[in-house]
Parts: sequence; C-alpha cells; structure tokens
Amino acid sequence: MALALFSRAEPAAVATAASGWGLGGAARLALALVACLAMVLLTQLWAENLFFEQTRTRAAAKLDLYASNLSGALGKYQSVPKLLALHGDVVELFLAPDDPAMRARGNQLTETVNRLTGAEDTYFMDAEGMTFAASNWGSELPFVGHNFSFRPYFQQAMQGRLGRYFALGTTSGKRGYYFASQVSDGGEILGAVVVKVSLDEIEHGWTAGEEEDVIVTDPHGVIFISSRAEWRYRTLAPLDAEERQAIAENRRYESVDLRPLDLELRSRAGGLQLLTVDGQAAGAPSREYVMVTKEMPEAGWTLHVLASTTLAYSQTVTAMVVAALASALVLLIALVVLQRRARLVERIEYQRRASEELERRVEERTADLRRAQDDLVQAGKLAALGQMSAALSHEFNQPLAAIRSYADNAQLLIERNREAEACSNLGRIKDLTTRMADISKHLMTFARKPRSELRPVRLAEVLDDTLDFLRTRLERAGAEVSVDQPDRGLTVRAGRVRLQHVILNLVANALDAMKDQAAPRMEFALRAAGGRVTVTLRDHGPGIAEAELGQIFDPFFTTKEVGEGLGLGLSISYNIVKDFDGVLRAENHPEGGAVFTIELPLLSARAAAKTALKEPA
Ligand code: ADP
Repeated sequence: MALALFSRAEPAAVATAASGWGLGGAARLALALVACLAMVLLTQLWAENLFFEQTRTRAAAKLDLYASNLSGALGKYQSVPKLLALHGDVVELFLAPDDPAMRARGNQLTETVNRLTGAEDTYFMDAEGMTFAASNWGSELPFVGHNFSFRPYFQQAMQGRLGRYFALGTTSGKRGYYFASQVSDGGEILGAVVVKVSLDEIEHGWTAGEEEDVIVTDPHGVIFISSRAEWRYRTLAPLDAEERQAIAENRRYESVDLRPLDLELRSRAGGLQLLTVDGQAAGAPSREYVMVTKEMPEAGWTLHVLASTTLAYSQTVTAMVVAALASALVLLIALVVLQRRARLVERIEYQRRASEELERRVEERTADLRRAQDDLVQAGKLAALGQMSAALSHEFNQPLAAIRSYADNAQLLIERNREAEACSNLGRIKDLTTRMADISKHLMTFARKPRSELRPVRLAEVLDDTLDFLRTRLERAGAEVSVDQPDRGLTVRAGRVRLQHVILNLVANALDAMKDQAAPRMEFALRAAGGRVTVTLRDHGPGIAEAELGQIFDPFFTTKEVGEGLGLGLSISYNIVKDFDGVLRAENHPEGGAVFTIELPLLSARAAAKTALKEPA
C-alpha cells in the first residue's frame, strides 16, 4: 500500500526535479558556452603573441644573414680603388689625363682590373670629376667624357675619405654601389679611382617567397633593393619637398618616379612592428608582415626583413581550434558529471520522501494499533469484570443462601431447644464463611505489590516445605510424588511464600486432574542450564485440551464444576512467576499428562551467599 503510494508520487517528484534541472541547466549551459568562448579568445591572444614572436625571431635570424651577405658582397670591392690609387702606374696616368695614349692605357687598365675583380665598372676621374678612362670605354654608353662630380662618393674621395655611395647610374641606368678613392701625387690631388659594384646579382638571389621579403631602403625611405621587383624605387612614406630636393641634387634616382608604397605600419605589444602592404595588382590581397630592421651605417642604408604573418595566423587558428575542442570536451564531461549529480540528488530526494512517507505511515499504523489495542484492553477489562462479577456472585450467593437457611434452621432449632443440631448448623455456617474468606483472600492477591520483597531462595527448600505442607492431602489422595533434583543448591531471586503458592497451585491442579485415578503420580524435576533454572511438574492426568492451551492462564478460565474452581489459580501463578522475571509454561507430555514448567533466572552462588537465604514468611 505504502509502495503503491510512492510509485504514484514518483512521476510528480521527477517532473519537479526535471523542471528544476531544465531552468538551472539552461543557465549553466549558457555559462559554459561563455566560458568556452572566453577560453578560445584567451587562446587566440596567447597564441598570436607566441607565434608572432616566433615569426619575429625567425625574421631577426634571417636579417643577420642578409646583412652579412650584403656586407660580404660589397666588402670584397672596398679596397680595390685604394689599391689602384696607390699604384705608381695609375698615378702616372692621372698626371696626364688629357694625353690620348695615357687614356688608352687607362682604358685598358680599368678594363683588365674590372674583368679580374668582377666589378660592374671601374673608372678614373680627374680632379674636376671628369671621367678620362673607364672599363666600359668600348660599350654603347661609355662613362668616358662624363662628369660625375655631383656624386657624393667623388666629393668624399676628394676630401681624402673612402667614397661610398649607392645610386642608379645616370649613364647606364643600372643600380650600383660605388667605392671611390683619392689619387694624389706629392700633396696634389689628381682625381679619384671609382669601382661600381652591381646590385642586381645580390638582389637576384633574394627571390620573393611566400614566407618573407627583404628590402633595402636609403635614408629617405626609398626602396633601393627589393626581393619584389614591383616595390623597387617605392617609398615607405611620402617624401616631402626637402627630401625630394636632396635626392635631386645627388641625382641618385634620376628619371625615376618615387611613389609611396600603399602600406600601413603599426606597433603591437612587445615592440612588434606589423606592416600591411596593399596588393599591387588589382584584386590581389594585401599582405601583412612582421618587420625587423637593421641599420647598416657604413653602407648608408637600412635592411628590412618582412616575414609573412600567414603562418602565425594559421598556427593561431589551429591553437584556437584545439582550445575549442578541448573546452568542448571539458564542457561535455562537466555536463555529464552535472547531470549525473542532478540525477543522484533527485534519487536521494525521492528516497528521502519515500522514507518520510513510510515513517508517517508506520506512525499512523502504530497509532491505529495502539488505539485498537486500547480498545481491546478496555473490552477485555469489561469482559473480565463481567466474568468476575458472574463468578463472584455465583461463588458468594451460594454460600450466602446456604448460610441464610442454616441460620434460619439454627434459630428454629434453638427455639425448640435442639441446641446440638443448632450447633452443627452454626458449624456449617462457619465452614461456609471460611470458604468465602478464602475466595476473598485469592482476590486480594491481585492487589499485591508486584516486585516487593524479592530475595535469594533455594528451590530445594521451597519444594520440601510445600510438599510437607501438602503431605496430608497427598496421602488422602493416595498420590505419589517423586522429586529429581541433582543440585540442591540452585538459588533464584523470588518471594518464598509466593513461590510456594505457585507450586501448591500446580500440585492442587494435578491432583484435581487425576482425581479419578486410584494411584495418582506426579514428578518434579529441577534443572539448570544457560543461566536459567527450570522446575517442571508432570502429572499422569488427561492433559490439557489443545484448544484450551492458550486460555488456561486467563483469569477465571476453568473447566471445573462451579464451586470446585475459580479459574484464578494459574492466572495468579503466571503473574507471580513473571514478577520474578520468569515464565510459566504449560504443555502436554507426549506420553500423556500435563507438564507445567516454571523457568527463572539462576542466581550466581556468590550473589546468593551475600544475602540471607531465609525470607520472613
Ligand atoms: P481452576 O483450577 O480453579 O480451574 P486454574 O487457573 O488453576 O483454575 O486452572 C484453569 C484450568 O486449567 C483448569 O480448569 C483446567 O481445565 C486446566 N488445568 C490446570 N491444571 C491442569 C492439569 N494438571 N491437567 C489438566 N488440566 C489442567
């Protein structure tokens, strides 16, 4: 019944719990997604920084490589003009620059030197800047006859320094790096030896790749060398008028339109320089680079390595995908764990409710039972009272009626002076009142104090006394009583007189049961086991009817004729034994006859010795 009730209650409980999870679950899911997103964004920040930094490190390594490559390429030509300028034959040529024979020799010499060194051009300029001999004397556009005094390298050489300059050749239209050295004789400045180195070959080795680009800019930000041909002669920033003026004076980029490159330069955290260059061809995508820069003051230019950010971005995207997947996995695990927890909480809640309901039911039932028991007890009391009243009125009315008639007779007999007979009637009256007093005494037992005066009592002594007391009655009935008691020291805590009363009652019942037998027999046996002691009395009467076994201890239950038994003896005995913490049982012996057992707790010898064994009667 209770279970049926719970199973009815369960769907409601589950529905409540589910709706609770639904609301909380949606909020939790949103929170988890936000956390997931935050995780991905944080990863993006972290990964971008990391991979951009890696890109910069790679670019910086490349930058050093390019710088040493450039320095090396130029370095091998650096001392060539100086060596030539110091040579006596060369000085000799410079002393007569206008002499055609000398010029022819000069042309031959420069051509030979140029071929041997692998330079682009080698040429001699007089003190005014006029070229009087050149390695390209035989080409379509020879330098011979051209004045290059406007070139800074010439001016530097004239000042006695090593002339260094890079420019677009005004005659050849080819880019070159110029080294110039002064030629003098005895303090007189005669002119300069110049070696022009081609930059095309160096640039040729820098093929534009997907990963990186490399550019060299002059102090005005004009791209002079570039791995991308389309960037050549473009500027990093628009040139102002002053800069344009300076460039025009040096004629570094003659007849070249110096347009700014469409780019955007920005700084990132950690000093990172990002450069975005617009796609040159129509529709081409713009490119983003991490830019690292190195000044090369000797050469007078700046080297830039531009490392593409494409790889850093794709690595960042990979890291973000990994972070998203990891967060999703964690989220999934968390969801499963939370859901399991919710189910567990749900189940615990359901079990709690179920046990509460069960408790409530048990309490209800207990209360019902208690009420029913109270009713039964009440009914039992009333029934007992009715039975008792009937029995008592019967027990008392009979002797009262007899007493009345004996008294009437006695009165008549006295009036007729028949005193002897009257006296006999009075004797009968006395007997009847004695019987009535007996009944009343039995009834008084019900009002006894149950646990008063319990003392150690030796069972053998109680049995001896009781049988002594009954001797006359037993002899009259011709009964034989045997006692089997191996241990005469068995002691219990009891009331001596009350225990005698119980044994008396059992013996009286046994004699009643065997009243039709010529030689009634009964056997007593005293035994102790497991801290308990038993006194059994077996008779050889008809035994107790099975149907009556459960009733014989009820008050007023009797199978005897009215006037022979009150049905109180066993009921009183039962309660007396109970007062001694014992039990009184009745059963039938398999071979016939009834067996009554008094079972009591055995008192230890030490406890028994401590107390006086005799109890006042
Ligand atoms: P009473 O002896 O006044 O009837 P008891 O309470 O002593 O009251 O006994 C109740 C009933 O138990 C007896 O009427 C009898 O039927 C049954 N009884 C008791 N002792 C024996 C016995 N030894 N053999 C058979 N029946 C017995």
